[in-house]
Order: sequence, then C-alpha cells, then structure tokens
Amino acid sequence: MAGTVEYDVVVVGAGAAGMTAALTTARSGLNTVLVEKASVYGGSTARSGAGIWVPNNDVLLAAGVPDTFGKADTYMAAVVGPEVSAARRQAFLTYGPRAIAYLQKWTPLRFAWMEGYPDYYPELPGGMPDGRSIEPLALDANVLGGELAHLNGPYQASPPGTVVYTVDYRWLSLVARHPRGLAVATEIVWRYLQLAAQGKKPVTMGQALAGGLRAGLIAAGVPVRLNTPLLDLHSEDGRVAGVLTRHDGAETLIRARRAVVVASGGFEHNERMRKQFQAAPIGTDWTIGADSNTGDGIEAGQRAGAALGLMDDAWWGPMIPLPGEPWFCLSERTLPGTIFVNQAGKRFVNEAAPYSDVVHTMYEKGHIPCWMITDQDYRNRYLFKDLAPLLPYPADWYSSGALVKDWTIGGLAAKIGVPAAALSATISRFNAQARAGRDPDFHRGDSAYDAYFADPANRPSPCLAPIWLPPYYAFTIVPGDLGTKGGLTTDARARVLRPDGTVIGGLYAAGNASAAVMGHSYAGAGSTLGPAMTFGHVAGLDIAATAR
Ligand SMILES: Cc1cc2nc3c(=O)[nH]c(=O)nc-3n(C[C@H](O)[C@H](O)[C@H](O)COP(=O)(O)OP(=O)(O)OC[C@H]3O[C@@H](n4cnc5c(N)ncnc54)[C@H](O)[C@@H]3O)c2cc1C
Repeated sequence: MAGTVEYDVVVVGAGAAGMTAALTTARSGLNTVLVEKASVYGGSTARSGAGIWVPNNDVLLAAGVPDTFGKADTYMAAVVGPEVSAARRQAFLTYGPRAIAYLQKWTPLRFAWMEGYPDYYPELPGGMPDGRSIEPLALDANVLGGELAHLNGPYQASPPGTVVYTVDYRWLSLVARHPRGLAVATEIVWRYLQLAAQGKKPVTMGQALAGGLRAGLIAAGVPVRLNTPLLDLHSEDGRVAGVLTRHDGAETLIRARRAVVVASGGFEHNERMRKQFQAAPIGTDWTIGADSNTGDGIEAGQRAGAALGLMDDAWWGPMIPLPGEPWFCLSERTLPGTIFVNQAGKRFVNEAAPYSDVVHTMYEKGHIPCWMITDQDYRNRYLFKDLAPLLPYPADWYSSGALVKDWTIGGLAAKIGVPAAALSATISRFNAQARAGRDPDFHRGDSAYDAYFADPANRPSPCLAPIWLPPYYAFTIVPGDLGTKGGLTTDARARVLRPDGTVIGGLYAAGNASAAVMGHSYAGAGSTLGPAMTFGHVAGLDIAATAR
C-alpha cells in the first residue's frame, strides 16, 4: 500500500449527491476530500436534463407556485406508498428546500421553475398540474477554469450556438406545428448570442448542474481526486473509518476521522448485479447512466454490513436501441400519432404515462421488446430526437434493426413478427378513438401529465392522432433506464443501516448508491436529483452536527 492520508470526511463519487455532501461538510469547517473513480467528474448528473423535484423551495415560492410542506407531503404519501417511512419522506421535504437555498448561496448555481411541467400524477391529492420542478439557469463555464476539461459530457449536446433548457424541448418538438415552437427556437439562439457577447461560455442542464457544484467545491477548497476508485470501506472498532482507494496503480488508505459518504451512483453498468437483483431480460445495454456506475459503493457497504433496498427497481424509461446509444423515448412516444403494441399486435399501456410506469408494465406483462408504431404524418409533423420534421430517418436506424418501415400495415406486421390482422384491428380501433378524442382502453390523455409532451394544435385531443399515412414505421422499444434506484438502506439522517435497523457508525449514503426515497415510484421531473442533493446535504449536516 502506498500510504495513508487522513481527512475529517471522505466522499465517494463526484455526482450531484457526492458534490453536495462534500460542499456541506467543507462549508461546515470539516477537512473534506472527494474521490472519483472516472477520469471525469459529474457522473450521470452531468449527462442529465437536471430537472430537480424539490417541493416548496424558495425558487418555486418566489415564482408564485402555491406549494406548501403539507401539500407536498400529501402528494408524496399518495405516490410513494407505505414502503418509504414518513420520517425519510418528511426529511426530504424539510431539507430539500434548505439544500436548494444552500446551493444558491455557496455555488454559482441559480435555478428557475420549469413552469407547466406537471407532477407525474397531478390528479392525486397534493399534485400540481403546473408542476413543482426546477432546473439550473445557464452557467458560465468560465467559472470552472481548467476543470471544465474534466466535466463528464452530456447525453445529448445542445446544437452549437444555442442555450437550451429542458423546458424548451416541449416546444422545440412542435417547431413545425405551433408558433411558440418557432419562438423558442429563436429564443435559444438569442440567449446564446447575448451571453456569448458578454464573453460567457453558457452551459445548461446537467452540464450546468455538475459544473456549478464543482465550482462550489473549488471555492470551498475541496480536492476532487479523479481516477481514484473506492476499492473497499475501511473499518476500525466497529465503525467505518475510511476508504481504500487506488490511484496510478498504488493503493492508498484514506482515513476519515468523522465519516465516509458513499455517493458512487447506481449499479446500472454491472451486468452481474443486474442479473442477480433484477428481472430478466436485463443487462447493461439499455441503460444511459454513466459508464462508471458499477455499484462499487453498494457492494462495499454491503460488505460492511449494510442492508440493501429496492434493488429490483430502476429509474426506468422506454428506450429505442439506436446504434451507438439507446435513445430515451420521451416526447417521441407521447406526441400524437404513435401507439405501443406487444407481440400479439395489441396495445397494452397508456403510451404517454410516466416513463417508469410504462417499463413497469412492460416487465409485469412480459411485453419485451414491444414496438412503437407510427406513420409518415407523424414524421412530417414533429422533431424526433434531433431530426427535424419531414427528414428521412437515418439509414443506420434501419440497418441496426431499431426501425422498420413498410407501405402497408400487413407488411410492417410481417417485418416485426406480429399477426397482421391483429395489428390492423388495433390501428383501426385506435384511429376511431383518436378521431373521437378519447382513449377508453388506456386513458391516454386523461391526465394533465399526458398532455405535456403532446400537440396542442392536434384536435380533438392533443394526445391522440390516427395512424393513417403510409409508409408506416415500427420502432423497437426496450426497457431502459437512467440508472438504478436500489442501494444502501438509509435513515432520515442519511445514515446507513444494517438489516436489523441499527446504524453503521461513520457511514452515510446518498443518491443512487442508496435506496430511493421515491420507493418504486417517480413523483415528478427531477425525482432522482432532488433527493440525491437533499440527502447529500442531510449527510453533510449530520456529520457536521455530530462532529461538534
Ligand atoms: C440522460 C439522462 C437524463 C437524466 N435526466 C434527469 C433529470 O432531468 N432529473 C433527474 O432527477 N434525474 C435525471 N437523470 C438521472 C440522474 O442523472 C441520476 O439519477 C443522478 O445523477 C444520480 O446522482 P448520483 O450523485 O447518485 O450519481 P452520479 O451523478 O452518477 O455520480 C456518481 C459518481 O460516482 C462515481 N463512482 C462510481 N463508482 C465509484 C468508485 N468505486 N469510487 C469513486 N467514485 C465512483 C461515478 O464515476 C460518478 O461520477 C438523468 C439521467 C440521464 C443519464
């Protein structure tokens, strides 16, 4: 072993959870180090859309959103169910707003309400049809200096010369359909020109969030050691007292006088763990989480005696297995003129339901893969991924098998191996319902959420349009995810628990390394990052309080 060094606090993993925890302990006066396995910081956080679901925070209240702790608690209780303790749920709702205020104080991050982006179950008690999610405003990446070069890349880069927010996507999809689409397209260029004229290097979404957190750590003097994976936790006298790491081939014990925070993300890229804990078919090909998230902190915590929870679940989303990387199929699925069909050629789900629910249904009913059926009318109307309306789908989408096309429904059915008569009957039935503007079979369009990524110019329902104009298309849909949501079991203070409910001294966990406060559900846009930052902050506060 190369040697031993000592800090008050060691944080493992430089994503939203870890960077928030490290900021909190450092600003509380504790000598803190952050170790990161990858050659870049930011993890999945940097790749993300950076929607953040933290009810009742200052940003929302300043924007006039009529949220309260009570409303949010009622909503969360209804969404999350009894599996998550009221104490943890309420710790999230209590400390979430404080975490947002803390980040606005100690980092260059500034947030804005994602106006109109509904909670995912807005009709439940306490739910909000206009939403309570926030996202970062554009960050001037110049604040990162040389550290910008070590920021993990985005999942989908915004086009050069634009400043795009997550809330813009809804309108950009409708650029050929709605005047606001064109207005937003103009605005994203105008925003860029204004900021560039001031010498700024604007970044948004996950790049802004991870970059802003990193800038906070620079200001707080926290070293972030890249290429330094946690190998194992180190215990002394029955407490966790440090981490064993490797850097440049040499192993180092980093002792932690106060505590270790495991924030090393989920296990989405660990084939063995996925097969052990999750339902088949499963693997690592359909996730879009950061490559370095292989569950190391979860397994190390388990070796130290921790209980695990929610390991069978993930932050699921239907994906199209496009060449290179799966595509998280969001607006493409909910815009009118699409249906999902199973191997029998039948619909089986509300295609516009929250992404996690659609995949839960795919697994429960065994419809893997399934297909998204559309037509040329849909192609003519909407942006698809980054492909403008009317343009042909790329050739390699066909050659990879992710997409097939045919001039008849029967031909399409033959190409995907479903019964032609059944597919024709499904489409005829759906078309009649779409023309009437109601989906009595699966209630697509009944929730305000379904209409968010829909087409207000489509009548009579913004969510339903017939599939009628050849050629017809079928996209393969597989159950993918943004990352896993199971991990170390924690209490309301983010302390890691043993199976008997006792606390493992010196060990905290937050983010996707811990079992999610959302349980098996997904309350609204940002339900992974909001809790990740909140419990990172809670861990930091608890360590600081215990240290005094
Ligand atoms: C394309 C995309 C879009 C998304 N959009 C949203 C969104 O809008 N809102 C939302 O709430 N969520 C979103 N998510 C999900 C969200 O990004 C993640 O759930 C969240 O970032 C998890 O945060 P984390 O801090 O737990 O993990 P991460 O951000 O993944 O950070 C974990 C870090 O730990 C490091 N690590 C792993 N193993 C070790 C080890 N052995 N030693 C040291 N370090 C280690 C990793 O390299 C990584 O840097 C999205 C995800 C993706 C991929």
